[in-house]
Amino acid sequence: MELFKIIRELTKRKRLKEYCFRMKTNTLCLVGFLTLAGAGAFAAKPVEWAAVGQPSRGQAQAIGTPAAGCLLGAETLEADGPGWQVLRLERKRNYAHPAMIDYIHWLGGRVRDEQLGAMIVGDLSQPRGGPMAFGHGSHQNGLDADILFRLTDQPLTESERERPDLISVVRGQTVDRSLWSGKLERLLEVAASSPQVERIFVNPAIKAHLCKSLPPSRHGWLHKLRPWWGHDEHFHVRLSCPPGSPDCVSQAPPPDGDGCGYEVDSWLKRPTLNIPSDKPNTRNVTLPAQCQSVIQTAGQ
Ligand SMILES: [Zn+2]
Repeated sequence: MELFKIIRELTKRKRLKEYCFRMKTNTLCLVGFLTLAGAGAFAAKPVEWAAVGQPSRGQAQAIGTPAAGCLLGAETLEADGPGWQVLRLERKRNYAHPAMIDYIHWLGGRVRDEQLGAMIVGDLSQPRGGPMAFGHGSHQNGLDADILFRLTDQPLTESERERPDLISVVRGQTVDRSLWSGKLERLLEVAASSPQVERIFVNPAIKAHLCKSLPPSRHGWLHKLRPWWGHDEHFHVRLSCPPGSPDCVSQAPPPDGDGCGYEVDSWLKRPTLNIPSDKPNTRNVTLPAQCQSVIQTAGQ
């Protein structure tokens, strides 16, 4: 392989991984990874990303991973639409890759058509993605969205929208039957049915409930439901890397099978299934090198 081709390969971590796998060389790969770990990435302060008020112009691109990434050419999710309403607009977290905006529009349409009420959408991403000053460790590359376990037939009041009561639907190791409903179950099922959805995070107690209550013939969609701490008053949708985002790094797909039995049971044995949210994120986050120009063009 010509030298310049090798260098081009080395400019991107995932291409480097592919190269190493293909060529089975160790020394060159080690040098490449060390180079990328130093010069190819940069440390960014969450407050700087949170302070950016506008998306960048240009072709939308999700860059990096949901936990270390950024977003070019974000679109804004409107405050309301058919089948959805958005919370806490003052946070400026209603931005996402157009694939996520289209997904919310689609899911809202399904919710309305099935007469489930309207869904309530929480945080997506910041105008240019990146780490957030408080709360989530992910939601950085425009492909994550939170949706409440709550459906409503009423428009949110201003105070409900800006200071919502986030009510857990979990009691101990199962769902609270006074709050859980067939409509919420259907919302989750429809949300998971899009081929763009890579995984949906829910509290382990919710997954355990569905594993037990649904007949095995209806377990097909449960493999996308991934148990995770928190996620008891909202679920978290993650889309796959969309076309046209060559620097987006995909997570490994969820394991085969429905994840019921041993996997979800092992979660229920953990000492706590909930974690406090909205804690300040004060540590610098190491982001892909491409994100440096995304934040440096702030205001353009
Ligand atoms: Zn989330």
